[in-house]
Amino acid sequence: MGRGEAIIYGAGMSGMVAAWNLARMGFRVVVREREDSFGGSRIFNPSTHVTPLDLEATSQYVGLDLSPAFHRVESISLYLHDLRLPLPAAGAYAVERSSRPVGLDALLYEKCLEAGVDFEFGRALRREDMEALPPGTIIACGLNEEAYQYLEIPYVTWEGWMSRGESGRSGYAWIWLDECVTEYGYASFCNGLYYNLLFSYGRGVNGECLRRYREFMLRAEGLEHEDWEYVKGVVPLAVPDNPRLVHRGFILCGTISGAMDPLMGFGISGALVSGRVAAMAVSEPERAEEEFARFTRNFASVHRFKHQVWYRLRSRVDLLEGLAETLGPEISMRLLAEAVRRGRKSSAIPGFSPVSCH
Ligand SMILES: Cc1cc2nc3c(=O)[nH]c(=O)nc-3n(C[C@H](O)[C@H](O)[C@H](O)COP(=O)(O)OP(=O)(O)OC[C@H]3O[C@@H](n4cnc5c(N)ncnc54)[C@H](O)[C@@H]3O)c2cc1C
Repeated sequence: MGRGEAIIYGAGMSGMVAAWNLARMGFRVVVREREDSFGGSRIFNPSTHVTPLDLEATSQYVGLDLSPAFHRVESISLYLHDLRLPLPAAGAYAVERSSRPVGLDALLYEKCLEAGVDFEFGRALRREDMEALPPGTIIACGLNEEAYQYLEIPYVTWEGWMSRGESGRSGYAWIWLDECVTEYGYASFCNGLYYNLLFSYGRGVNGECLRRYREFMLRAEGLEHEDWEYVKGVVPLAVPDNPRLVHRGFILCGTISGAMDPLMGFGISGALVSGRVAAMAVSEPERAEEEFARFTRNFASVHRFKHQVWYRLRSRVDLLEGLAETLGPEISMRLLAEAVRRGRKSSAIPGFSPVSCH
């Protein structure tokens, strides 16, 4: 029996997880997407992303087998300037965001079509339409600034240099720390594609920093990537209490809800589980609020850790590098493995952390 209509803005990963779950509950679902097809933002995609993930627990929670789109990462390097430290890669996955058949978006889109979801492409959320939208409309517009502005959700801007293209490498990723960015440079490789991003929060990344990064890549990885573009976006990391499920009568879904890792900015596992929670918010609002609070309960403390501790360490990569050299590779790697383990545990997003989904 039908249960009414649900409207979702944004055919990205969280919007389509919400759509599929609602359609299965018996709602007539329409997804409105700004682009003229599925596959996410054309500014960033096709892209390859890497995330720590408990694939089975996440699949179970969202109700869909996500395994065809996720690929194990065999090795990850953390670079402190030129000093390479291997990161534990167990539980890390790469995923392609695109409309290609091997992409996560194609998998979710197919599932949504099978469940009877309608899509309206070329249909952006506009400020002037918002007042007329029914309460409970789901906003899943990702990292684009407009929805944050329309809804007056506090955000941080990020910007930097991006390069993407084809690559023979696979199952590999690196993270590069240098003082010229507040965050990092990272590259990931999967399905014959690479994606490379060098970015800061709250400030620009100059050409000199890009030059340093490219020289590092050539020295350390023997790689040159061309066609660098300057890109920008936003994330809801402005304040420790950023996460919110319901705001001004709208249900927030994906990154815009704050269901992400505030330390390194991993957004995939949070976006996937928040799709299910957003669908629950339509049918069982109280349970959804409980689930959302449970999953985001460590956001504030990790946010504070980032600002009070991590940024201080991070601004002296030379000291971290010197320390790692003094301790030697074995002890450094043991400490790093412990830091990664604690980092994952500090998040309460199921699938990202070892915290159970149930
Ligand atoms: C460049 C980049 C690299 C990243 N790398 C990683 C990574 O390696 N690991 C990781 O864990 N996370 C990464 N993230 C974060 C992760 O991709 C996001 O957290 C995740 O995609 C969020 O899912 P979502 O459903 O919220 O948004 P998306 O999947 O981005 O979907 C949003 C959808 O909304 C549409 N849209 C936008 N505005 C409107 C509008 N006004 N009206 C209608 N539709 C609209 C977009 O076109 C898109 O289809 C990265 C993000 C970016 C941008």
